[in-house]
Amino acid sequence: MCERLEPGLYIVATPIGNLADLSPHAARILSLADLVAVEDSRVTAKLMNHIGVKRPMTPYHDHNADRVRPDLIAQMAEKAIALVSDAGTPLISDPGFKLVRDARAAGRSIHTVAGPCAAIAALTLAGLPTDRFFFMGFLPPKTAARATAIAEVATLTATLIFYESGPRLGAALAALHKGLGDREGAVAREISKKFEETVTGTLGELAARYAEAPPKGEIVIVVGPPGEAEPAGEDQIDDALREAMTRLSASRAAAEVAETLGLRRRDVYERALALK
Ligand code: SAM
Repeated sequence: MCERLEPGLYIVATPIGNLADLSPHAARILSLADLVAVEDSRVTAKLMNHIGVKRPMTPYHDHNADRVRPDLIAQMAEKAIALVSDAGTPLISDPGFKLVRDARAAGRSIHTVAGPCAAIAALTLAGLPTDRFFFMGFLPPKTAARATAIAEVATLTATLIFYESGPRLGAALAALHKGLGDREGAVAREISKKFEETVTGTLGELAARYAEAPPKGEIVIVVGPPGEAEPAGEDQIDDALREAMTRLSASRAAAEVAETLGLRRRDVYERALALK
């Protein structure tokens, strides 16, 4: 008798570059699934060819997820449905969280087949502390929203991980430098592919390197936690000054901020006057 999977949802991680990274467990689930929910059937077809199997596929992506989700949840009562994304772990900056939420609410059986994830792969390459890390996914592309998102994590004592694209890398690094100060960082590109490269340096060095030379391929930025003696970033100083100047004169606000952030009072006062 043919082997069959228990009905339910199977979240299957797939390679982020090297197809040999597909685990035997993932290959088995994909070859036995009654249906494979995919972001892009052309991308997943290559993976299925690689393991020599053909299974029915159905699209599940940002543009149709809300519409098709109830039907997928209903089908999971009888069928084993595998969820994959184009690369890496589904749900991580990819669709799937609501599918898992609703499958759980409907009492379906849920399994995960753990495997590659670009964020974790980059963290292992960066040479930065791994005991506490915070995954930010993609930063907003617009300048103001990006600065706000960076400010939200500026005080975290953790290594930060961001997904980014080549054309936006220079601007993202400049914004990180401005918002976080000159921390140590790493740019991991094309992990597990032919042109894999990891460049490390301070955020200032990395921003300068990529300012005029956007690299090709897929990218993860990793930023180290704030150091003890790290100078405050411009945005941090400005935010503190703006807040203090709602309560105090420019000179008193500058004195307070200089004291708090360990900066020269005269420098902070000049900045306060510029902001006024
Ligand atoms: N779910 C995927 C995962 O587990 O990593 C991430 C999907 S997200 C839509 C795609 C982003 O992941 C890319 O823009 C890039 O930032 C990062 N990425 C994926 N593959 C990568 C690789 N081989 N090297 C570097 N970054 C990669």
